[in-house]
Amino acid sequence: MANLIARKMDPSAMNPTETLDPVDWSRVAELAHRMMDDAVEHVRTVRDRPVWRPMPEEVETAFHGAPPWSPMPLDEVYEIVRRTVLAYPMGNVHPRFWSWYMGAGNFTGALADFLAAVQGSNLGGGSHAAALVDQQVVGWLRDMIGLPPTASGTLVNGGSVANLVGLTVARNAMAGIDLREEGVGALERPLRFYASDQVHSCHRKAVETLGLGNRALRRIPTDAAFRIDLGALRTAVHEDREAGFQPACIIGTAGTVNTGSVDDLNALADFAAEEGMWFHVDGCIGALVSVAHDNAWRVKGIERADSVALDPHKWLHAPFEVGCVLVRDRKAHRQAFAVSPEYLKGTARGLASGEWLHEYGLQTSRGFGALKVWMALMEHGTAKFGRLIDQNIAQARHLADLIRDNVPLELMAEPELNIVCFRYAPAGLTEQELKALDTEIMIRLQETGVAALSDTVIGGQHCLRAAICNHRTRPEDLELLVAETLKLGSVLAGS
Ligand SMILES: *Cc1c(COP(=O)(O)O)cnc(C)c1O
Repeated sequence: MANLIARKMDPSAMNPTETLDPVDWSRVAELAHRMMDDAVEHVRTVRDRPVWRPMPEEVETAFHGAPPWSPMPLDEVYEIVRRTVLAYPMGNVHPRFWSWYMGAGNFTGALADFLAAVQGSNLGGGSHAAALVDQQVVGWLRDMIGLPPTASGTLVNGGSVANLVGLTVARNAMAGIDLREEGVGALERPLRFYASDQVHSCHRKAVETLGLGNRALRRIPTDAAFRIDLGALRTAVHEDREAGFQPACIIGTAGTVNTGSVDDLNALADFAAEEGMWFHVDGCIGALVSVAHDNAWRVKGIERADSVALDPHKWLHAPFEVGCVLVRDRKAHRQAFAVSPEYLKGTARGLASGEWLHEYGLQTSRGFGALKVWMALMEHGTAKFGRLIDQNIAQARHLADLIRDNVPLELMAEPELNIVCFRYAPAGLTEQELKALDTEIMIRLQETGVAALSDTVIGGQHCLRAAICNHRTRPEDLELLVAETLKLGSVLAGS
């Protein structure tokens, strides 16, 4: 002991302890304030900038260097980030970003992500406040969707994993054997899952990951409004039962990616009950419509699901990433994932006295993404998020009307929610020529920074697609989109 103390008092006898903490906290505080000012300015003026712009070559090559061996002052690092990273965003926080399907973020959520990272809590479990926030957010989402208070859930990194978790519980619960112990090879009758031909591609990845194979997911044809055809579903389930398969799970979609159509969820719930099957709803787009006053009726029946996947980083505009899965039967949910190794045992008191949240999903460590949802919900209230959803749905109607009023624009499907599919279709062009023309219009809209759309195929025909999941979009943004599309179309088509 005397030796140790002697060593401690003689600085020359030991190496100084290294840490990542700054030597000069006041300098870092100053820089942090500058970053905050820049961030506020970035969002405040987002409308004045292009939605997206191509990167000059020197920016691209800036990211090809070797790992840095030696240090660089943080203000210099930040300067590089400002010039190269922050200056070339994907663009989804911009009011005229309508590609694919993503939320527009919100500044409170960004602040929350910073605070969550500063606290640094891990949501694998334990007794601490972040775990309570995480569970409260799951409970709020459950209440917003209308599942009973006994239902369980977990936040994950997005809708794909939320669906995977839900389908894992479905597979295990419907297997009729101890599937975790014995594996899919021990199934007497192969399991079959059913969804419409509009189902999101993540379900294919899910059934493949679950060892069932892509063929175990039967794609059922859709009706004229792109909803699952109930007669065809019934026939497929009965056929499979006859053929020795076990129909296990119906996946309903509340808001398809292509057109935003919503399956008849009540009819699917009835049919699943009749057939003794699991009823999962992919509500990544539409589940949150449940809190939108004017449109909630469209997703009625979702509250009857056995499991629901939803995406707060879409229509709650949480910055990426945060998804959520809810499961009606808490026990089945926990049974699908719980393992308690010796190094993760609970205690009656102390840090390990909280619930082990990793027993409800695939991740062990999990970030504190709940805080950004919690803070934004506290600040604005669920009613406002509902109004923003109604607003986007009304904007999709407005865009559809503009398209109908402006030949040669062609509306490809009546919008159910907030997704509008259309094309610039002058007479006399073949399908292939139309595809080339519309693709060029889409790319020019992106390259000029006017608007970001994506494209898809509806009923065999290529078209442009605007998904208005954006709390910054105004009617004049949609009017500009139509005007610019008409202008580009007429220049490109030479008319
Ligand atoms: C976005 C989406 C998904 C995938 O969610 P991610 O958050 O991107 O992983 C799944 N299903 C539907 C219907 C979606 O719109």
